Amino acid sequence: MLMEKERIEIVEYGKKMSSSGLTKGTAGNISIYDPTTGYMAISPSGIGYDETYPEDVVIMTLDGTVVDGDKKPSSEHDLHSAMYKSKPEIRSVVHTHSMYCVVLSCLNMPLKSVHYALADAGTFEVPVAPYCTYGTPELAEAVKETIGKGNAALMANHGMLACGTSLKSAYGLASTCEWVAEVQWRCMSVGTPNILNDEQMSVVLEKFKGYGQATKGNGEVKSYFG
Ligand code: 13P
Ligand code: ZN
Repeated sequence: MLMEKERIEIVEYGKKMSSSGLTKGTAGNISIYDPTTGYMAISPSGIGYDETYPEDVVIMTLDGTVVDGDKKPSSEHDLHSAMYKSKPEIRSVVHTHSMYCVVLSCLNMPLKSVHYALADAGTFEVPVAPYCTYGTPELAEAVKETIGKGNAALMANHGMLACGTSLKSAYGLASTCEWVAEVQWRCMSVGTPNILNDEQMSVVLEKFKGYGQATKGNGEVKSYFG
């Protein structure tokens, strides 16, 4: 089976995304990109995460041609492709409808550095891409324009997207964003949160490159969720 390892990983993380509450129902999607073949493995459209098997994961090129798999690919394949085309270092994209990110996206409110863990995104703020219909090239373009050099974006009245050098890191960043979004929301419901300044966040950004055990030394930012 083409990209068998990646297909298995997508199924595994789909179950995790669902059981952890990061997304509900069939919302959200996951992909992994292999630059040597130019193939992207992406979750199928509209199949529950507990009912998805490795053979259901679709293999396609970034221009939308299906190479292997008999299921319809995620309706957001253009969105995932746009990330791989514009960010050569990334290997995985996770899109979720996680609750607190959705709430802030509906308020058109970026994620702020209310907590230093947001440095995981590679930027000090996670911006909100303007609303476009789901599954359209317009949405892909809007997110690409908005995300800039960072690795995460909210999508107005829709959800969030996270990029990573592995599925583990993209999923970890999606989890960080949801956690920070909840902190921000809870703070806002009581008062005005204190926002860490760029200098304070720069220190954390550097420190995260060496966080945890033996790092790869490739400058990848690591945080608490993987
Ligand atoms: P798919 O089931 O087609 O991946 O769509 C879910 C979604 O989140 C659309 O934005
Ligand atoms: Zn969505």
